[in-house]
Amino acid sequence: MAIKLEDISREKSTELFENAQKFFPGGVNSPVRAFKSVYGSPLFIERGDRAHIWDADGNEFIDFCCSWGPLILGHNNPQIRESVASQLDKGLSFGAPTRLENELAALILKNNSYIEKIRFVSSGTEAVMSAIRLARGYTKRDKIVKFDGCYHGHSDALLVKAGSGLVTFGETSSAGVPKAFAEETIVIALDDKAALEKVFADFKDQIAAVIIEGVPANNGLLLQDPEYIKFLRQITSDNSSMLIFDEVITGFRLGFQGAAHYYGIQPDIITYGKIIGGGMPVGAYGASNEIMESISPQGPVYQAGTLSGNPIAMAAGIAALNILLQEQFYKNQEDTTLNFVEQIRSFIQEKKYKVQIFTIGSIFWFAFTDRTRITRADQIDANSMTKYKIMHRALLNQGVYFGPSGYEVGFISSAHTEQDLATTISAIKVALDIVFQ
Ligand SMILES: *Cc1c(COP(=O)(O)O)cnc(C)c1O
Repeated sequence: MAIKLEDISREKSTELFENAQKFFPGGVNSPVRAFKSVYGSPLFIERGDRAHIWDADGNEFIDFCCSWGPLILGHNNPQIRESVASQLDKGLSFGAPTRLENELAALILKNNSYIEKIRFVSSGTEAVMSAIRLARGYTKRDKIVKFDGCYHGHSDALLVKAGSGLVTFGETSSAGVPKAFAEETIVIALDDKAALEKVFADFKDQIAAVIIEGVPANNGLLLQDPEYIKFLRQITSDNSSMLIFDEVITGFRLGFQGAAHYYGIQPDIITYGKIIGGGMPVGAYGASNEIMESISPQGPVYQAGTLSGNPIAMAAGIAALNILLQEQFYKNQEDTTLNFVEQIRSFIQEKKYKVQIFTIGSIFWFAFTDRTRITRADQIDANSMTKYKIMHRALLNQGVYFGPSGYEVGFISSAHTEQDLATTISAIKVALDIVFQ
């Protein structure tokens, strides 16, 4: 007999979304929120507590989107709330330095041996955009290399996709990005040493930097062979090009020192975002003292921000990072996630379903495929996304909230309890039975 679940009520969310259409393009302030790749219209969230969120219709969900990564401690964390509340009494913004910036910076730099100086900005996009400018300013070269399947925010230089051929200039992936800009960005496939060799041969002494996500996690979870990342480090050094690790997701997620420490690789510049602000808008980039000397007002590379280092955001970041520094925090996260994934994997094996779960740290990703290894964007089967869509609906109907696209990864926070995860595993089993019935 076919399994059917009753759809949750979306009356209020639907009404809010209709209203939002009058205000915002597509009814949203960031495109993926529009639920274009999954069933129904977006849920309007009213509040969150620990691992749970409630929508406008009063539906409750266990949340695995976690605001796209920042909420590694779950929603409404008491320490973060307290830290923010005590700063609220003192003012929201001064546009002058505060003690809190020093405090957050010290917390990071004391516990991260991969950067010596840091600059706070207000988003991941801004961090990456600034890191690119720094790399260009420092090397006095213009071209950058990015990888197909890595997302680095929405700055012009990075809204570029692969052209045809092994090594080509990028094509813009958004209207409004000048062709001339795209020509400064070369896009190649991940996990392809030959492409890297060719790019450095073809553009000798022209490449300012190669940028890669610490672990590519914005277009599926594309786990790379550490050997390949070592090769990337080597070839960039050999060519006096910079290696930029975009750790906006992996920073403070794969460990306090992120992917750099995970691989044991020293990048030239590292960007952060998401977790660093404890749920508030903060981004950052860091490098050695020598490289950071190029940033204004010390050096010639200009970069500024009215709300950079905002005291409320710093207060949230300080509280969050202090918790992350507790012993065993990351070990617990990883153990919990692996245990969660293994239980679902046993079920999948038993049922012989065509789906894999890739995981690292507290990140996981469902891929509807037989492939046991996916390292490149072009290995993802776009047609399989219809299966994700079915799963997503079946999960919502059982009170489990996953990101609204099969290309998005899931996050487990320290607020997810054993009970939350057990409930979710049961729901996933039902959802997979529905997908494959
Ligand atoms: C989210 C993300 C960005 C962009 O950050 P925003 O805060 O959304 O601007 C950049 N790089 C990576 C790797 C990201 O995951």
